[in-house]
Amino acid sequence: MGITMTEDRVYNFSAGPSILPESVLQRARDEMMNCRGSGMSVMEMSHRSPAFTEIFTETKQKFRDMLRVPESHEILFLQGGATLQFAAIPMNLMENAAADYAVTGNFSGKAAKEAEKYGTVRLACDTGGTGHDRIPAQAELSLSPDAKYFYYCANNTIYGTEWQYVPETDAPLVCDMSSDILSKPVDVSKYGLIYAGAQKNMAPAGLTVVLIDKSLAGRELPYTPQIMSYRMMIEHDSLLNTPPCWCIYMLSLVLDWLKEQGGTEGMEQLKKERAKLLYDCLDDSRLFHAHALPGSRSDMNVTFRTGDATLDAEFVRFAASRGLVNLKGHKVAGGMRASIYNAMPMEGVKTLAETIKEFERNHV
Ligand code: PMP
Repeated sequence: MGITMTEDRVYNFSAGPSILPESVLQRARDEMMNCRGSGMSVMEMSHRSPAFTEIFTETKQKFRDMLRVPESHEILFLQGGATLQFAAIPMNLMENAAADYAVTGNFSGKAAKEAEKYGTVRLACDTGGTGHDRIPAQAELSLSPDAKYFYYCANNTIYGTEWQYVPETDAPLVCDMSSDILSKPVDVSKYGLIYAGAQKNMAPAGLTVVLIDKSLAGRELPYTPQIMSYRMMIEHDSLLNTPPCWCIYMLSLVLDWLKEQGGTEGMEQLKKERAKLLYDCLDDSRLFHAHALPGSRSDMNVTFRTGDATLDAEFVRFAASRGLVNLKGHKVAGGMRASIYNAMPMEGVKTLAETIKEFERNHV
């Protein structure tokens, strides 16, 4: 089944939790009362039962295959959202020493602030001066020789910028891929650690996927809580305590759907098409303009505005009346934001572009 929508549903441009593929929701509905002949829903299964163990093992393998995760890296299914990782990363990897943080948006800023509790944070860059409208080039990054790791956020959900390259550093790369994971192929072997909250491209909220180079585990500070220790979680295959069972099951269905869509290569092609359509429309517009600069623009979160907050609010209402919802930008950035994740049908993006043009005709 392709990426389509039935008539009674809206085009949901929410930044997260966000749109899920319709066929996945339908499959979850069909398996709700009796999952795989168990006579119960996944929500009712013990996480130690054979039925759930099968789902867990399959999901992990499907994820490994989908992102070609090398055997050097463990796949962890954790809780606590991406925000827990802001603390878990320095607790496990900073060794009370120093780390480089590239601050290119809201969440990398929050991660850097959290890390200050556990060691010395060195700013590799900070794009706050220009409203986080761009990603710095490699040559602009200031790298420290004693950094335990280099931290960055691949896609800035709020400001709508996305790294178009993988930074080159001597220190292990640690990356927040919450809002662009599974939207393109990634060479996981280049990273010490990748993490992502599930609620954008993967599953409902409640699951965080961590991919960690196993050689980095075991350096946690002595007071690190068990559930935040990568070493403990690797030893227990993420089952130190009850995992987010339902979200893991939903991820499994999303991974099946992704495979049918051509995997991460298929998604990369689609995401470029979706984003080009919107950015072309905004660049041609006399009323709206895109926030992020060309060369730094996100294919996942397209941020735009008119420059007049009242007009922006009118546009958000106009779009909602046409079934295009959740286009209001994040409060720290203002304006509009169209989150066009993997599950967004091209038809939704085309309808948004037409709506932008129609609103412009009525106002210019
Ligand atoms: N990182 C990024 C890139 C995000 O977009 C978000 C949430 N939107 C977070 C971190 C924080 O995620 P959570 O709410 O799951 O802690």
